Amino acid sequence: MKAVIYTGESKIAVEDRPKPLILEPTDAVVKVLHTTICGTDLHILQGHVPSCSPGRILGHEGVGVIESLGSDVTNFTVGQVVVISCITSCGTCHYCHRKMSSQCESGGWILGNKIDGTQAEYVRIPHAAFSLHLLPDTIDQKVAVTLSDTVPTSYECGILNGDIKPDSTVATIGTGPIGLMILQMAKKLFSPSMTAVVGRGHARLKTAMSMGADHTFSVLDGQDIATASALSATSERGFDVVIEAVGTPESFGIAQTLVGPGGTIASLGVFGESCELHLEKLWNRNICLRTRLVDAISTPDILKMVDTDSIDPRFLISHSFSFDDIHGAYKAFEAPSKHGTLKVVVTMPHIITNGSS
Ligand SMILES: [Zn+2]
Ligand SMILES: [Zn+2]
Repeated sequence: MKAVIYTGESKIAVEDRPKPLILEPTDAVVKVLHTTICGTDLHILQGHVPSCSPGRILGHEGVGVIESLGSDVTNFTVGQVVVISCITSCGTCHYCHRKMSSQCESGGWILGNKIDGTQAEYVRIPHAAFSLHLLPDTIDQKVAVTLSDTVPTSYECGILNGDIKPDSTVATIGTGPIGLMILQMAKKLFSPSMTAVVGRGHARLKTAMSMGADHTFSVLDGQDIATASALSATSERGFDVVIEAVGTPESFGIAQTLVGPGGTIASLGVFGESCELHLEKLWNRNICLRTRLVDAISTPDILKMVDTDSIDPRFLISHSFSFDDIHGAYKAFEAPSKHGTLKVVVTMPHIITNGSS
């Protein structure tokens, strides 16, 4: 089968690999229909993820058909279409019992990292009973690739960790797929009194405006000007909820400036360097700071929200590619401002060739 390989350099390679087999009775092998590329894959290519060794098949997101099942997996049947969770969960360990499967003792984020991932024609999924989700045929299979990681991350690490309440003022920092999905969820699921988005590129901020943001601010106009303008939109009170979805010292600094007394910072950026926490300014402001790696425990809820149109992730899919043009897909994803990219869907060849592989 064809697979996307991390070569140890900044480029991917497409190689032929043997089709994966069931190794444990709790495994499934899934024939991948659609997959996607994540910012985390780019972190791997940049050499920032030491747990991922060269030779690894990349990818932790996808939708596929169950090809074979280990004898212990009794909640699925061969031929069912499933969403592959970006987090592998054993369902029984110390952390899984505490609904923290990101820290699962024999799972967590292992796909496309510690074991071979989803950017391939087939993938082996350990702990399949807890790590796959049946996809109803009412949900578009391409759009459903966003349910592996992007939407649960937006919901768990942004919306839930931000503790949004009706009437909250909500600032989102970052206008990538997750920042924009958080904006949509905040607007659709709660009734925030005001939403503001802080970003860089004006095109993305325009998108945020078209999605109903009350205010947008660009750090390209000067970070101090952007934060001062954002604070003035709250009558200098600061925001009740600040969701930091970038992961740089700059964005973390902005989050601390924008949070108001009693407010919450939900930080979900993938940080590659240390940042300053200004407790000398925050200690007496009753704030809460939360971090989280997605646990993907909300996926069943999210499937229902999409199915009932409570949220609509279709806008996230900006580009579609066939697997033959995986290099084009990476190029588009690596230069989002040039190509206007949010998420790219990559469709595997067996779809195009009508079932043969
Ligand atoms: Zn991802
Ligand atoms: Zn576990």
